[in-house]
Amino acid sequence: MRAVSLVIGVPKETAPGERRVAMVPRAFAALQKSGAELLVEPGAGEASGYPDAEYVAKGARLAANREELFAAADVLLFVRTPGTWQQAPAAGSPRSGDGADPAKPAPPAPPAEPADADLARLRPGQVLIGFADPLSLPAASRELAARGVTAFAMEMMPRITRAQGMDALSSMATVAGYKAVLLAADALPRLFPMLMTAAGTVTPARVLVIGAGVAGLFAAATARRLGAVVSAYDVRPAAREQVESVGAKFVSLPLETSGSEDRGGYAREMDADFYRRQRELMAGAVKEHDVVITTAAVPGKRAPVLVTGEMVAGMAPGSVIVDVAAERGGNCELTRPGETVVEHQVTILGPLNLAATVPYHASQLYARNVASFLGHLLRDARPPAAPLPLDIADEITRETLIAHGGEVVHERVRQLLGLSPTAAPSGPGGQPPAAPSPPPPASVGASAAAGGGVGIAVNAPTPGA
Ligand code: NAD
Repeated sequence: MRAVSLVIGVPKETAPGERRVAMVPRAFAALQKSGAELLVEPGAGEASGYPDAEYVAKGARLAANREELFAAADVLLFVRTPGTWQQAPAAGSPRSGDGADPAKPAPPAPPAEPADADLARLRPGQVLIGFADPLSLPAASRELAARGVTAFAMEMMPRITRAQGMDALSSMATVAGYKAVLLAADALPRLFPMLMTAAGTVTPARVLVIGAGVAGLFAAATARRLGAVVSAYDVRPAAREQVESVGAKFVSLPLETSGSEDRGGYAREMDADFYRRQRELMAGAVKEHDVVITTAAVPGKRAPVLVTGEMVAGMAPGSVIVDVAAERGGNCELTRPGETVVEHQVTILGPLNLAATVPYHASQLYARNVASFLGHLLRDARPPAAPLPLDIADEITRETLIAHGGEVVHERVRQLLGLSPTAAPSGPGGQPPAAPSPPPPASVGASAAAGGGVGIAVNAPTPGA
């Protein structure tokens, strides 16, 4: 029998409407070969199209129930870490394929168990990986820290070349951009492509994408494939080339945009005057389009309002706005997150968690990102075993680590919580270059690890696991 040195647990996601799963059977192969065991909660992959039997066929073991899973796992893989979605504003999730309005909140299902049930199941020393939303919901990171777990937030992945395979935000944005176009095409009372038929010519739909990051570029490319005439705009001047590379026209506005991009490639928040001027200049472009897809975001901030009610009123009747930024408050003044509204004869969709509406491929991409990140964390551990090495000198590890040893250890999240900076001097990413926290609780032991980092001892696998 193969010796198991590390148990990696995959729970079923419990957020309302969440249909993704953090690990799919195929994505685990490399880690499994090296000696890790995948322990899966029954039904974890059901909603995304990965039945239990497929996990078992790939060598995973099914836990008896959620309790056993949480008790036995050294590492828990989540789409959304415990405490995250429970603290988010009530947001139903769209469902695809069941005829439901994708932008409408799911009917409020009675919670199967108290919101903090998973928090209570966590053990000090356990390692958690998932979307933890630390910049919008820093209190959730504090909750995790209070449980003594070591938590990594996938959305904090640095955008550097060697982390590209771990960039789950980009994966999910890709899916969201694609799906936004399908929603727009479905809601629009016009065809997307140009048609020349015996009954006459149909002119193509005109689509404007505002915010040409990952989701926006994918939306532009998808709309092009459907035959629409596509324009796109972004505040970052560098976006022009990318927009043109997907066959869309870049909309230039006479705005001073130097300084609009941070060193991570993200947009910076601009001042109120800038956004006012931007709205004024954009009004003409919005008016000329049948579909507007908005994806503009600034990390950790409310999405900027770029389309006002007045601009909506100027659009042709039947036009459609899909506000992909609805989760962050929305780019359109009239968006109601999680709902579809019709104002001035324009349909405005505010879908939430679009990636979860394409759960099979969203899970596949996310699982590969997570497996790649886990492979990175375990790169010096042969065979992968508890304790996991924690090399804080490494940018990827340091930037994604939010809680360890009973403390919130990410400087940005500490700031948001009003906590003082950690004692260690800041490294290049605003994170301590060495061990970030005081000695961990009793069940977490610190040990030296390869590469000059610190080692965190995760509890040994439960007997029989
Ligand atoms: P995001 O989701 O934070 O924002 C979406 C887009 O909205 C961004 O392009 C942003 O510039 C834009 N935006 C913000 N405010 C705006 C405004 N007022 N008007 C118009 N547009 C506005 O960003 P994202 O999609 O995650 O990615 C942003 C950048 O990061 C892109 O340049 C992307 O190519 C880059 N990126 C790099 C890597 C990598 O190097 N590994 C990986 C992924 C993305």
